[in-house]
Amino acid sequence: MRYILALIALTAAVVVWLRALLRKQKKKANIKGWVKDQDLDGDGTKYYNHKAGVLCKPDLVMDGGSVIEYKSREAGDKPIYSDVMQVAIQMMIMRADRAELRYKNKTFVFQRDDQVMQKAMQDAVYAIKKMKYHLMTDNAPEGAPTPRKCAVCVFYKQCTEAAVA
Ligand code: SF4
Repeated sequence: MRYILALIALTAAVVVWLRALLRKQKKKANIKGWVKDQDLDGDGTKYYNHKAGVLCKPDLVMDGGSVIEYKSREAGDKPIYSDVMQVAIQMMIMRADRAELRYKNKTFVFQRDDQVMQKAMQDAVYAIKKMKYHLMTDNAPEGAPTPRKCAVCVFYKQCTEAAVA
């Protein structure tokens, strides 16, 4: 009996310690609420929208479905538009009503019906359609080729505009 009580006390102590550690880490990362999924270690879940043919791996998926994306760079007065489009795709796939884009120096918060987010979603849908068209017709899109980009491009072999290192 004494061992069982000691085991229960030890388990309770470990749970309290782990909760305190988690609370401290969440506070440090400025995260409120429960994290449902995370890709901060590159091991997150891939979420798909098969109909649209897109996937995403948000850095954090919060309980309730909102998403948080971290960027290692700094932002100016406005977020970088390609990042907003990335978050727009995440919001569409996750059906999230809220998203955060966290740069090194500031955070931008978006609601699904914000004007900028609605526009980013429309632009993302257009970009996805355009990408699908190019893939289905085996037709390379116009772009600004650099040896680095071209080296990993799926059109590299067919493309007459590929930049060579
Ligand atoms: S190979 Fe380079 S130029 Fe051609 S489609 Fe790919 S990225 Fe663009």
